[in-house]
Amino acid sequence: MYKDLITFIRDWYQTDQFIPLHEPRFKEIDREYVLDAIDSTFVSSVGEYVNRFERDLAAYLGVKRAVVTVNGTAALQVALNLAGVKAGDEVITQPLTFVATANAIAYNNASPIFIDVNRDTLGLCPDALEQFLDQNAEKRGTSAFNKTTGKRIAAMVPMHTFGHPCKMGQLIDLADQWNIPVVEDAAESIGSKILTRHCGTFGKAGVLSFNGNKTITCGGGGAIITNDDALADRAKHLTTTAKVNHPWEYVHDEVGYNYRMPNLNAALACAQLEQLDGILADKCMLANAYNAFFSEIDWCDFFKEPDGCTSNYWLNAVITLDKKQRDDLLKTTNDSGIMTRPIWQLMSDLEMYKECQKGDLKNARWLHDRIVNLPSSVRV
Ligand SMILES: *Cc1c(COP(=O)(O)O)cnc(C)c1O
Repeated sequence: MYKDLITFIRDWYQTDQFIPLHEPRFKEIDREYVLDAIDSTFVSSVGEYVNRFERDLAAYLGVKRAVVTVNGTAALQVALNLAGVKAGDEVITQPLTFVATANAIAYNNASPIFIDVNRDTLGLCPDALEQFLDQNAEKRGTSAFNKTTGKRIAAMVPMHTFGHPCKMGQLIDLADQWNIPVVEDAAESIGSKILTRHCGTFGKAGVLSFNGNKTITCGGGGAIITNDDALADRAKHLTTTAKVNHPWEYVHDEVGYNYRMPNLNAALACAQLEQLDGILADKCMLANAYNAFFSEIDWCDFFKEPDGCTSNYWLNAVITLDKKQRDDLLKTTNDSGIMTRPIWQLMSDLEMYKECQKGDLKNARWLHDRIVNLPSSVRV
């Protein structure tokens, strides 16, 4: 039953070796920039590649500012802090996400509230959110409060799963209505758009990741993107040990973090960003090929970009008939040297988050039992 799929994937990658889920693609330009950073001796906390990557990334995404960081998790932690999340607050997010989303909330000593996802986006569901807020929240002063816990709902974090955009228009409307700041976890969705607007640019701030398994990578890295100059300035300050500008004195005016992206990584990031459009075109080609392959097949559905959206197809996904079939597919492909993966365990099922408040998570559970990610690297 899965033989044709295995043949299709092996033909696409033209190899009989192990096929990973997602590996980076490096070319001569990547080597050139990294060597240049080494030759300059500026490999660490400051350097021209850091400034250049921040400028180039902001320009690419059409936002005013980008502040780059050591990884995406750190970027999300700081973005939440700057959106106003404080100890004892609550932050709304989806249960279907990578653990970093929930952890970044916890690092701010806040607790997540898990709200269901849409089946057609895999991201935070505006209808479920509206229902939750209508039943559980009240406005006090300018903030929204949770009537059950008495805590402030300080932010919401929609996440664009596998690069497929959430319903941001509706989510932003709700957020405005309830005065809840939005921080987009766009770690998986660089290059994805709703109409012509990039994911990560809808809320107060957005967060990207350049980890090794993402669409483009600099080894490890992240970014906070925003149109708010004051927030960007604060982000830069807080992620660079909160050092006050002075020619020689070490003065730090608050407890900052050493979350900056090293110049060595930024050099690789600059090179990767120059290749992003080519990588996106190649990823789109693979998604189209998968789509054509699965349109002939009745035992599962290929997950396509939501209407009106362009997805970067970071990880290609299929939705199988049920959990048993999901497990069969996982076993058969992995046994034959083709790496496939189920989606993450729901955050609300993890030990450290299982006591957190949650809505009805029926779509998240349904998807959890059926999603399988397929090899998604671009060909060399
Ligand atoms: C990768 C990822 C992150 C964090 O990125 P790192 O750079 O690995 O810290 C955050 N959220 C989601 C949804 C991710 O997939």
